Amino acid sequence: MGKVRASVQAEGIVQGVGFRPFVYDLAHRHGLAGWVFNDARGVQIEIEGSDEHVAAFLSALSSPPPLAIVERTQVRYTAPAGYTGFEIRKSVGGEERLTLISPDMALCEECRQELFDPQDRRFRYPFINCTNCGPRFTIIEDIPYDRAKTTMAPFEMCPDCSREYHDPLNRRFHAQPNACPTCGPQVQLLDNTGAEVKCDDPIGETLCLLKEGKIVAVKGLGGFHLACDAANEGAVSLLRGRKYREDKPFALMCRDVGVVEGICVLDDASRTLLQSKERSIVILPRRPDAEVAGSVAPGQGTLGVMLPYTPLHHLLFSDGLASLVMTSGNMSDEPIAYEDAEARERLGGIADFFLVHNREIRTRCDDSVVKPFRGEATFLRRARGYVPFPIRLPQGGPSVLACGAELKNTFCLTKGDYAFLSHHIGDLENYETMRSFEEGIELIRRLFQIEPEAVVYDLHPDYLATRFALKYAGEQGVPKIGVQHHFAHALSCMAEHGLAGPALAVVMDGTGYGEDGTVWGGEFLEVTLKNYTRLGHLRTIPLPGGDRAAKEPWRMAAVYLDRIYGRIEKVDIPFTRGLDRGQWSTLREAIAAGINSPLCSSTGRLFAAVSALIGVRGMINYEGQAAIELEQMADQGESGEYPPDIIQDNGCFILDPDPVIEAVVKAIKKGEEPSAISARFHNSVARGIVQMAIKMREQTGLSNIILSGGVFQNHLLMGRTWDLLEGEDFQVYIHHKVPPNDGCIALGQAFHAIALQDS
Ligand code: ZN
Ligand code: ZN
Ligand code: FE
Repeated sequence: MGKVRASVQAEGIVQGVGFRPFVYDLAHRHGLAGWVFNDARGVQIEIEGSDEHVAAFLSALSSPPPLAIVERTQVRYTAPAGYTGFEIRKSVGGEERLTLISPDMALCEECRQELFDPQDRRFRYPFINCTNCGPRFTIIEDIPYDRAKTTMAPFEMCPDCSREYHDPLNRRFHAQPNACPTCGPQVQLLDNTGAEVKCDDPIGETLCLLKEGKIVAVKGLGGFHLACDAANEGAVSLLRGRKYREDKPFALMCRDVGVVEGICVLDDASRTLLQSKERSIVILPRRPDAEVAGSVAPGQGTLGVMLPYTPLHHLLFSDGLASLVMTSGNMSDEPIAYEDAEARERLGGIADFFLVHNREIRTRCDDSVVKPFRGEATFLRRARGYVPFPIRLPQGGPSVLACGAELKNTFCLTKGDYAFLSHHIGDLENYETMRSFEEGIELIRRLFQIEPEAVVYDLHPDYLATRFALKYAGEQGVPKIGVQHHFAHALSCMAEHGLAGPALAVVMDGTGYGEDGTVWGGEFLEVTLKNYTRLGHLRTIPLPGGDRAAKEPWRMAAVYLDRIYGRIEKVDIPFTRGLDRGQWSTLREAIAAGINSPLCSSTGRLFAAVSALIGVRGMINYEGQAAIELEQMADQGESGEYPPDIIQDNGCFILDPDPVIEAVVKAIKKGEEPSAISARFHNSVARGIVQMAIKMREQTGLSNIILSGGVFQNHLLMGRTWDLLEGEDFQVYIHHKVPPNDGCIALGQAFHAIALQDS
């Protein structure tokens, strides 16, 4: 039996996740000698022993501990060095820092058992964690990732914790947030004036308050939640009133999967998503008889549900409560509060009490939101649990900073072929969000030592992200690269799938800056990594009042009717009868005079128009509400369609929805069911997309097609479109790693910039 020595270089998420103890243990089990240590690139290992055992060791390396992700391994064989034992050596710092950092992860099963074990020294300790679970991204300040560079720095480990921390065979070996009741963070219950509520058991007291119907602001991993008993209608509607949140659904946290089963329809895929270590909010179909207060999600056929992910959450469910509303700790559209003082100030008028603790949150990070589509996750929001894990690009290149779009902003920094897409920053419309954006960029830059060699921006001159990008590029003296919004949408999907193009792309979106002076949002493109051609688009229509039109779907319904019938008065349906004629005629004059009424090809606005026409929503309280409610009311079994037209204009294909609108009006006049009309409308848009796709294929010979844009958060539309496209032998690509909404823009921008620079 020959003796061999193998040197292994492992890269990926391999530090602070129990990787060295795992290697140590593995080496011992296979009777191998050698060493392991962390360096700036990841983990270095040398092992020496029989070739059989070395081979077994190497193959076992591919199933590392839960939080570790081995991205690359390189193995070299050399002459045996005569090692005698196996040791964990001291870490070696280095110039090049490429070590990845783990996202925050849900409490693991072993820690959960200890949490509820009366014999354990961490019995009911709300900050229990180990190398397989706990806070990471939200507490880190700099690298190398160790305790001193996190918000755990002020807590000195007690001898017991320290022993665990230094024992390679312990589950808490180098678990940076390791703590116990003796040495770690503590919770505190405050009233809404900030005064401490004196009690022995703040969590037990909180439970009582929640059961009494009180609203408690709970400090979590990435920010504060506002919590109340989800079964208590009084508490939930009080929360709505105080938060000034009319009807946008609240997320729920349920005790366990059994509770979720009682209120939602679950399949295997959604069960897996719920229980994943990322613990996202999962959007699920609700049971009609679900025992949840009516004002949790008024008028919704779905509920957003997550399972407890911190030990503190688990404790909140330890005594009778089944589900809690757990909504972001903020006022309407502001970002989530995450600093104690700030939270007390901003949430003081909403929460009756505050359950806080003295472990600081360094970076605000919202809950991720996912929705299963045919057994796989699609994102509505990518944040906690996923960030800062990078998306691997099919090719590397110079480092770039891509600043993203305005709404649902994320930014992206790249290094080599890693794209670090940021957590959901939010809508860049106030100082707080802008601060998160700028601090986020600095943090990611520092953590991964990225010096951007170019800055990428959306063409919209008024986006704050764009203004920041241009200023930043100027300050840093690096080139700036503009990318059209819908091109960026398509590129982000290509980045996910490693597509180099050319490909067709259908981007059904709200609005984005077009290159011809109109507002785009229903785009049919031919794309490569470097360029795109606009082969077609949805027929344009004035956007009366610009951005106001997005908040008032009735305006869109009115302009469509006006275009089709000449005068709205000619159309006798409930929508026109209820219309404020005075307001409309003012708008109509403004449109005629070309005042604040840019032409747009937005699909989002088309959905809003139909929603208003059917009488679902003339005004909205949150983004996308009209379309969401239109989708939810649709009769899934209805297969009828109202065919749209395709017009050829100067070599450009124009999808004309007017015949569809006419058919909708006729159906309304006939008194047909809104659920059937809505379904037929969805089917018609899907049909229109596929007819356009066929034209594009005839012109280009391409049959791989990308679906992106916020409108594809509508899974009824996505499903119908997907089926029709596949029926026509298209190869369809959709988003699975990033959202189809503007949260994907930065990734697409970055991918483009890299592709441009490598030629
Ligand atoms: Zn654990
Ligand atoms: Zn301790
Ligand atoms: Fe968009």
